[in-house]
Amino acid sequence: MKTKYQGLELSYQLQLLPIYKNELIRSWLVRNALYLNMKPSQLSTIIFQNTDIWKSDIDVQLSRRSIQSLLNTVEIREEDLLKHLLSSKCEHFYPHLNESKQVKWLLQIGVHQRGKKNSLQYCPACIASDKVPYFRACWRLGFLTSCHIHDICLLDSCPNCNSPIDLFRYNKTNNKHFEPLDYLGCNQCSFDLRESPRIKPSYYELEANKEHFKLLVEGHGSIGNLDFNYSHLYYDGLKRIMSFILCSKNGIELFKYIFNKYDLDDDCIRERMEVSRHSEPEHLSINIRKAGVIFSYYITRDWPIKLHQNMQEVGDY
Ligand SMILES: [Zn+2]
Ligand SMILES: [Zn+2]
Repeated sequence: MKTKYQGLELSYQLQLLPIYKNELIRSWLVRNALYLNMKPSQLSTIIFQNTDIWKSDIDVQLSRRSIQSLLNTVEIREEDLLKHLLSSKCEHFYPHLNESKQVKWLLQIGVHQRGKKNSLQYCPACIASDKVPYFRACWRLGFLTSCHIHDICLLDSCPNCNSPIDLFRYNKTNNKHFEPLDYLGCNQCSFDLRESPRIKPSYYELEANKEHFKLLVEGHGSIGNLDFNYSHLYYDGLKRIMSFILCSKNGIELFKYIFNKYDLDDDCIRERMEVSRHSEPEHLSINIRKAGVIFSYYITRDWPIKLHQNMQEVGDY
């Protein structure tokens, strides 16, 4: 099939490097673009026949037109493409009950939230041990903060310069070639993300993440003393609890209580005080989301007894 775009005509379909199971579409396109020594935004323009798509959240949703463009340009089966879109694989944590484009719980990468850029999470041990390193879809989920394979903390910034990881911008000076693995370097300081520190999560954080991941995969199961026939019911409740602790003005005292009790990172409190009340947990950095994940584990062991006790200890509730 012939594809035409701004004078560029492809009389064949591009054979891209294959997409991995559970890989983000953006990760797949970035890997391919750098392999072809192109800017990812250029490859995206050719594939989607639209210069703006690169700026949109291609991991989550693609219009019918964009899907058709991609199928015309790239050798991939439609069903294989569709199963990588997060909007079609979110039913275990956020069922689409309407046509809303927003999928709850997804970290918003590349989007500016009041001057603060959000970041994708990653596990340094996963990308260091992959034969071909790639970024996983589950790293965009706000209720996961540690890796279920390596039992270490996910990270959401460059440990060297603190820049967010967004898989958006790749610059090269005139004659310089891209290297195929350039996407593993921080786009500000080129620090190799595979070298990032491996940090051990606390017991609560690790156990909470194990439960969250199991529930995510199976679509039903137990959390503490609670059983869920539908996992999204748990995630809905978790969102309310995390929103209260992490985003609501009334939740600040409880957050401070959790901070003191679980010995969280010192920066947490400052960050928590700056959270705007219109924020959602998935807008927040991993440092602060950890507090919600840890507390949720603690209070679901004997729901609702500990929650009530804690609320009373903090007072005012
Ligand atoms: Zn890992
Ligand atoms: Zn950096």
